[in-house]
Amino acid sequence: MCGALRLADAGKKAVLMGWVNRRRDLGQIIFVDLRDRSGVAQVVFSHEVSPAVHEKAEELRNEYVIAAIGTVKKRDPDTINPNIPTGEVELVVEELRILNVSKQPPFLPSDTALANEEMRLKYRYIDLRRDAMQFNIELRHKVSIAIRDYLSSQGFFEIETPFMTRSTPEGARDYLVPSRVQPGSFYALPQSPQLFKQILMISGFDRYFQIVRCFRDEDLRADRQPEFTQIDLEMSYPQPERVWEVVEGFLAAAFRAAGHDIKTSFPRMDYDDAIRQYGVDKPDLRLPAFTEVRDCFTPADLETLAINKDLPVIAIRIPKVGELSRKERDDIKPLFVSKGGARVFEDFKRIENKFPEAGAKVRDKVRQNAGAAEGDLIVLVVGAAQSGRDDHPAGKRRVTPAELAIYASAGILRVALAQKYADRHGVFKKTGDPAKDYRFLWVTNFPMFEYDETERRWMAAHHPFTSPHEEDMDKLESDPAMVRALAYDVVLNGTELGSGSIRIHRQDIQSRIFHALGMTEEEAKSRFGFFLEALEYGTPPHGGIALGLDRIVMILAGADSLREVIPFPKTAAAKDLMMEAPTPVAEGQLRELGIGVVIKK
Ligand code: ASP
Repeated sequence: MCGALRLADAGKKAVLMGWVNRRRDLGQIIFVDLRDRSGVAQVVFSHEVSPAVHEKAEELRNEYVIAAIGTVKKRDPDTINPNIPTGEVELVVEELRILNVSKQPPFLPSDTALANEEMRLKYRYIDLRRDAMQFNIELRHKVSIAIRDYLSSQGFFEIETPFMTRSTPEGARDYLVPSRVQPGSFYALPQSPQLFKQILMISGFDRYFQIVRCFRDEDLRADRQPEFTQIDLEMSYPQPERVWEVVEGFLAAAFRAAGHDIKTSFPRMDYDDAIRQYGVDKPDLRLPAFTEVRDCFTPADLETLAINKDLPVIAIRIPKVGELSRKERDDIKPLFVSKGGARVFEDFKRIENKFPEAGAKVRDKVRQNAGAAEGDLIVLVVGAAQSGRDDHPAGKRRVTPAELAIYASAGILRVALAQKYADRHGVFKKTGDPAKDYRFLWVTNFPMFEYDETERRWMAAHHPFTSPHEEDMDKLESDPAMVRALAYDVVLNGTELGSGSIRIHRQDIQSRIFHALGMTEEEAKSRFGFFLEALEYGTPPHGGIALGLDRIVMILAGADSLREVIPFPKTAAAKDLMMEAPTPVAEGQLRELGIGVVIKK
């Protein structure tokens, strides 16, 4: 192996096989950096040692595949390369075999400047030869193995579930596979193995996991892929805490495999508190929480400023931003996404000038709350005087929809500002201390239902197999807004890594949930009849979770896109540029499937 060559090998015979990473021709002597998965080693073709081998080496070009046979030699002190592990030695070649030639590649694995991504994806096999990609794929392997080993050590069985199945309700569009033997019928690729893993609990397997591909036809973003990999698990008789313990265990193993010792157990936060403090259900704890500053203003101040006195007045603090110019202040406005009439005061200085007393109080309170210092940016997010409606079906929640709109607007702005000024506050920079670099959190007690304004009905906030809290059961029909779910998300640095829940294990309750979601008995039967029936045959209480493997590896690799950690990913247009998929198919193939294609423009 090229990368394994060391001083201790000096004087020994060696055979190295790999790619020509770089070639320097100095006339009487030709140097080649030979590369394989393990790294690079310098091989030397010298006219003096063998004129024939030296002559053959003149043919070598980038990415030729060769076998170099020779003797390992300690390098002269002035030619030692301290930047590579093999830098103290070189192989003096006595025999050269050219195992294969290569066309000049569109870009080289050794290029320091990255080719554009389309090129990288089209020639993925060359892109994957690059050090960074070799590192990422190895990391992915190590993380998966660590997770498998951990779960197996805890008595979990890895059990495969079908890809050709029927629609599962994770809320995205299905990828469909036509059936040839049942013309007009389709399988759906699973959006998750949700129903199968629950059935496995009914089947007595007790603890199941699977590192499994899931398929969701959604509009893509940087952190989404149409097919992605989940660490999916389910167990019988757990309290939520038991599921969390298992997840913390395998995450600790995965992070250890990547060289980071993280501490468990993770902190926990109610959904309502996450919204009030961070305006989002996946808070990034590396940044300061909001400060509620409504009581710093007199009713008269609020009126003059046209601030709604019944809604939150939120101070966002971003550390160490420093003095902002007029233009920089103006650049804040476009980052603000107003929901429910939320307004932003991006120039807190102006409030301080106009309302010195309120301004000083806000400053004091923010400072007290989170130790704000000189140079921290303070921005206020408030409700417009006339905003806030109370006739919403969820109007009685601890965080009302009108409040939620203000919190959510502030939450988006908080993250956008933190990203914009990342260079100044440095909070996102890795410190080497896992306790600071990786801020995990469990968010729990989500509402069971979300109200869909356009369809004017309740939808499952997680999925319809999530169990409501025992004590909220009586509100299922009378007051669905107030029903909390036994659901939980695991969050890392503002990214949702996974979500899960304790499930419904009683058929009567499952039927009531379908009903609360507006499904008639017939609809429920036709979509989930098999499952409702299975629930009637002695179903143990059970619960589980699924975490995105791609995301975890992306974070560990310090990459900014899932495509950096998936060997063969798809583009934002859901295309595989290397295989050139998807493609039209032959008429005959369609005929066999009984399918005619009409393309609507
Ligand atoms: N099936 C869920 C999902 O894919 C996870 C779970 O509830 O276990 O999000």
